[in-house]
Amino acid sequence: MNLILMGLPGAGKGTQAEKIVEKYDIPHISTGDMFRLAIKEGTELGKEAKSYMDKGELVPDEVTIGIVRERLSKPDCQKGFLLDGFPRTIAQAEALENLLKDMDESLDYVLHIDVPQDQLVERLTGRRICPTCGATYHVAFNPPKEEGKCDNDGSELIQREDDQPETVRKRLEVNVEQTQPLLDFYQDKGYLVSFEGDKDINEVFKDIDQKLGDLNS
Ligand SMILES: [Zn+2]
Repeated sequence: MNLILMGLPGAGKGTQAEKIVEKYDIPHISTGDMFRLAIKEGTELGKEAKSYMDKGELVPDEVTIGIVRERLSKPDCQKGFLLDGFPRTIAQAEALENLLKDMDESLDYVLHIDVPQDQLVERLTGRRICPTCGATYHVAFNPPKEEGKCDNDGSELIQREDDQPETVRKRLEVNVEQTQPLLDFYQDKGYLVSFEGDKDINEVFKDIDQKLGDLNS
């Protein structure tokens, strides 16, 4: 089961990834984890990637795709994989396609968790943090007992700069600009499956699970 997971920040990708990994016994492979592993194992490509990262430069595609190849060749990928955060560009998507062809594999689905942007803004701006103990709350999903006050120590809760509506909107826009071409690319190839992500977490997973169940039958 060879999968890519896509969705904007706040769409609940992490939660769904956990559920997919647990049920289908495939590894969740995020770009960051992949780089960290290659660097830790000290592979040639890992060293090369690190040299770029140390300089604060972008790791070139040919190095990244090499690291993807190393990762997908590991024994835990025998049943497949769930890629998250890769590919980011059409060039990377094309490179991935060639890489899979080389490995006698192909993609099954690109799972897209689709949540309306307004709702993402609501989810992402609702977070409140206690400056004293670091506890996090959400005004809608995980409110403190007394509005605006920490349950642990009664401190006045604050909203981080990153969670301010304007910052959140900008971050989402940048993300949409980056991911839309990829969504179109995979739509054209027939891999894209979109799921309504503005439902209960378990409902969303049920939809995904149903789709993935087709692959096993
Ligand atoms: Zn507190």
